[in-house]
Amino acid sequence: MKASIKRLKPYVPEKPLATLQAELGVAKLVRLSANENPYGTSPAVAEAVKNWDFAQSNRYPDAEAAVLRQAVAAQQQIDPASIVFSVGLDEMIVMLSRTFLAPDDQVLVSTPTFSEYGLHAEIEGAKLVSVPTLSNDHVDFTSLLRAITPQVKMVWLCNPNNPTGTVESLASIEAFIQQVPTDTMVLIDEAYIDFVPAASQVTAMQLPAKYANVAVMRTFSKAYGLANFRVGYAVFNLQYASTMQTIRLPYNVNSLAQVAALAAINDADFVQTIVQKNATERTKWLTFLDEQGLTYDQSGANFIFFNYPAADRLADYLRQHGYLIRTGLRPGWLRVTIGTADDNRQVQQLMREFKA
Ligand SMILES: *Cc1c(COP(=O)(O)O)cnc(C)c1O
Repeated sequence: MKASIKRLKPYVPEKPLATLQAELGVAKLVRLSANENPYGTSPAVAEAVKNWDFAQSNRYPDAEAAVLRQAVAAQQQIDPASIVFSVGLDEMIVMLSRTFLAPDDQVLVSTPTFSEYGLHAEIEGAKLVSVPTLSNDHVDFTSLLRAITPQVKMVWLCNPNNPTGTVESLASIEAFIQQVPTDTMVLIDEAYIDFVPAASQVTAMQLPAKYANVAVMRTFSKAYGLANFRVGYAVFNLQYASTMQTIRLPYNVNSLAQVAALAAINDADFVQTIVQKNATERTKWLTFLDEQGLTYDQSGANFIFFNYPAADRLADYLRQHGYLIRTGLRPGWLRVTIGTADDNRQVQQLMREFKA
């Protein structure tokens, strides 16, 4: 076994809700810890999946995902050849790490951020270099630039960032890119960008065509509500797109997943409704946190990161009352996924009642 693998701490995925519910012995359990879409997915997806030709089960899926590719390219106004699909955005993190990292290379992140960047850096034997965020939890671009050395082969930018929810402007991201050496990859994870107000002005989607060392990633798991289908993609400069196609397992995204993602893209109204509901509920959450005198980060996503001195005990109390929220991301801080109006109201009521 690789030495880098022996050192790894195992990743603890979410347990199935039903298993956890039985363990806790609660009548209802709502997961507000995984940033899932609480409204489900578009009804058009259910239709498309039901209408899929089951007789194709013994055939390999379209390796090119041609129809989905055209739909994504049209939606994002990009060259279809620049898109590489993956089994969730998760798999793209694996593919990028595998492609660009060798043992003893370095990977730069602004922390706190999504833990999978670090996990896959370690698997490749690379070293994770962390630059803490500023006091408002925005990216400290100046310090990030200072940390770039010839050993740094990739920089991850998560925008909006998980777990803070903070959003960096396109101007600040592009200014950063212009100062990064052209042989250092800048990887922009936009898993939550759909939730950002005026997302089209914040996305870095057009930058890979302009800067060869930039890639931008998206997923159908969050705003589109397709976490179970595992579809994500990255957009590359044409200089790298074909290499990434070589690294990709040819049949990684199955036909049902392709059909589901296509139906989801074609129902723009559904996503727009989700984004609006989320924005309304996000505002209500912030009003509540203000009322409680709690400190939180400005969020453009479908979750909020807030300070709570008795964080673990509050999370425990909420779990006993049927709500899971995310702990362990920073001492004294919690991340709550914005749920339905009803669930948000109930969690907020429980928080009012909780005596630390
Ligand atoms: C959820 C998430 C992903 C992974 O999404 P999948 O497409 O479901 O694999 C990637 N990046 C961030 C920051 C996430 O929060």
